[in-house]
Amino acid sequence: MGKEPDNLYTIPVKGLSVGKHQYGFLIDKKFFEDFENSQILGASLKVDVDLERSETWIRIVSAIQGTISVECDRCLDELVIPLKTEASLLVRFVKNEDEPEEDLETITLDPSEAILDLRQFFYDYICLSMPIQMVHEEGKCDPEMIARLENARGEKPVGENGSPFDRLKDLLN
Ligand SMILES: [Zn+2]
Repeated sequence: MGKEPDNLYTIPVKGLSVGKHQYGFLIDKKFFEDFENSQILGASLKVDVDLERSETWIRIVSAIQGTISVECDRCLDELVIPLKTEASLLVRFVKNEDEPEEDLETITLDPSEAILDLRQFFYDYICLSMPIQMVHEEGKCDPEMIARLENARGEKPVGENGSPFDRLKDLLN
């Protein structure tokens, strides 16, 4: 398999031999600290990169898999969600005709660049694969926080007898 995972998220392209190469990266909480306004509070993601190098282009196919932690939209408590996505990229050094005819995101790299930094690329794909609505399963939200939020909004005031739902439960019993 590939090399040991590192935390640089870069691939040395200068001097990289023509052919196939594999890389592994680990993405954790620290990765997202460099991105302002990131919704992601924590992560445990593994990235497996298959790279193919030709004379004039590099094709990268990465599988990103694991979990991320975000704030629940409903109770604001931490919510861990699974994440699995594939991110592909074609890097060319010069505009040319012999690149693979695929519908891939393409960037052009100056041939003098020594490394290819994949940090932003990984970040974008992780953000794209996040669900639009991020909430705990029904009934799994932090009940104290829900009560506090409802109080703060002035909705469903909690009286001495507990919430309206508790009274409803009493009636049903
Ligand atoms: Zn929640």
